Amino acid sequence: MKIKRIWRELIEFLKMISTGNRKAVPAIVADGWSRATLPFISLYFSAQILNRMLAGDYEACVYSTIVFLTLQFGIGILERACFQFTEALAENCDRTIRQRMASKAFELSYEEFEREETMDSIRRADNSSRGSGGVGDQIVVTCHLFQETFAILYALIFVGMLFFKSDTGENFFVNYMGTVLLLVIYVCVIIFNGKMGKKMMDTQIEVWHKNDHNNAMFSYLVTEFLNEKNAKDMRIYRMQEILGEKFVHFGGEGVKVYLESSQKTGKYSGAESFVNQLAAGAAYLFIGIKAYSGAIGVGDVLLYAGAINQAVRNINNLINEASNFSYRASYLKSYEEFLSRPAMSYDGTLPIEKRGDGNYEFEFHDVSFSYPQAEEEVLSHINLKFEIGKKLALVGRNGAGKTTLIKLLCRLYEPTSGSITLNGIDIRKYNYKEYTEAFSVVFQDFQIFSMPLNENVSSGTETDEERLGEVLDEVGLKERVEQMQEGLRTHLYNNNGAGVDISGGEAQRLAIARALYKDAPFVILDEPTAALDPIAEAEIYENFNRITANKTAVYISHRMSSCKFCDRIAVLDHGKIAEFGTHEALLKQGGIYAGLYTTQAQYYEKNETPRNVQNMCL
Ligand code: ADP
Repeated sequence: MKIKRIWRELIEFLKMISTGNRKAVPAIVADGWSRATLPFISLYFSAQILNRMLAGDYEACVYSTIVFLTLQFGIGILERACFQFTEALAENCDRTIRQRMASKAFELSYEEFEREETMDSIRRADNSSRGSGGVGDQIVVTCHLFQETFAILYALIFVGMLFFKSDTGENFFVNYMGTVLLLVIYVCVIIFNGKMGKKMMDTQIEVWHKNDHNNAMFSYLVTEFLNEKNAKDMRIYRMQEILGEKFVHFGGEGVKVYLESSQKTGKYSGAESFVNQLAAGAAYLFIGIKAYSGAIGVGDVLLYAGAINQAVRNINNLINEASNFSYRASYLKSYEEFLSRPAMSYDGTLPIEKRGDGNYEFEFHDVSFSYPQAEEEVLSHINLKFEIGKKLALVGRNGAGKTTLIKLLCRLYEPTSGSITLNGIDIRKYNYKEYTEAFSVVFQDFQIFSMPLNENVSSGTETDEERLGEVLDEVGLKERVEQMQEGLRTHLYNNNGAGVDISGGEAQRLAIARALYKDAPFVILDEPTAALDPIAEAEIYENFNRITANKTAVYISHRMSSCKFCDRIAVLDHGKIAEFGTHEALLKQGGIYAGLYTTQAQYYEKNETPRNVQNMCL
């Protein structure tokens, strides 16, 4: 059954790699064949040349040498070419697989992507694309499987020839019994080696699994040590000491497990090699008898001893490599499993109506939502209309559900009940890619990537530089960018040490610039100015009111001052809209909003903030 399983896995694997490159399978087979053939050519011709030399047939000797060298040269070239091809193929497959994984990750819905189970599956699949079960490594193992299979076939042919080479004077019984005995011995050796090989592989698999956690922690710690973003905290809190201890601990644990397993595998491989030597001794004895009886020449002794040696070695290797292949295939399954995950559970087909007037009206109808695997509702019976061209402030304590509401609006999650409509049509009916065109969002945990500044803002390789200049000006970054050596093309962050670092506030401004550059009809800002100083914040809001004049916008902010700019304020409390109205109306109402607002106002007064800043903040 195991052989059947490995065979099936091998066929699946070959199919998988041949879809990417049609030459892959022929190259792997040719690689295995050429590697297996070379030592047998050597054996065969050395024996032939020696026999002919001893027989004094020098002409035949020269002829054999020429054939030998020609074959050796030709097959040697083929072997090199195949080796280089399969090496490049292995490297290429690793990359392709990682690319496919990245594309797949973005085909999944955000909800699916964020789930713990998906994350686990990504981690396992990522492991399978490199490290323990990499496709590249699997290609190398497959080449070995072919090499060993061909080598065993050659060896069997030669050993078979040895049996039939009997001299007329030779005792048929000795020949016959000797061969049968030898066969029995080797069958026993193969069974024994198979068992040892399995034990070794089981021990190795056990070690790999036992060390999964140690290895993961060890690589995590290495990454953290080398991450420049950690350097400050590590110095101030002397984190390097505790991290260093953990580093030593996990490294040591890993080595301990490894040593334990080496002891075990050492015992098995010792037993394997002892039995092999015994069997080889028996084989050499048999060859000796045949040579003594005159059935074979001196050269043949070399040939058959070499063939037997090759047979044993390759049978052992094949057994080990087959287990190795099967183990790696189990890792590769997680990659296939990840790729076969369904993309979005549902995607509509309707395109978004292209409207110059920006009249896109979104509305929540009795929307409730709870996170998968969470019992409590985060949002409960929300009814809310985002009026076209108006600005709405979403206010509430931490955890009130503000960001969740935005995620539902952006279709990152689907409501548990109720519906959200765009111009009266359920948003699920729209094509998702088209739907996202309607939004410019600055998330709280926005990301600026380590790539050129212009590409970060335009989210593409083609940038309208004039427009880019305008938006950078609007967020107050124009001068800063002009000072950078490569201006708009400056590579941000590390870029192997050649990038430019920007501050948290500058990054936030860039994220806002990106949202402005997109020029979508609906703008959402989730704590967009948290990292900005009060003056920069006031500038941004001033500009925003101008830039978003005709757009529909939602602001989420803990700075109540920014809510004053909005037409309406919705106060979320425990997943419900507790208050809704204008700034003045809510202040009069004396509820949650009034409480939050006056608390902040008092704080500024008590701390005697300079008057000009106070004016900007409140
Ligand atoms: P706010 O933006 O108002 O601070 P959020 O919408 O981020 O609040 O979170 C609302 C609640 O939902 C919080 O209790 C938070 O812990 C929970 N929550 C947020 N994201 C997730 C998630 N991915 N899985 C489970 N619970 C979440």
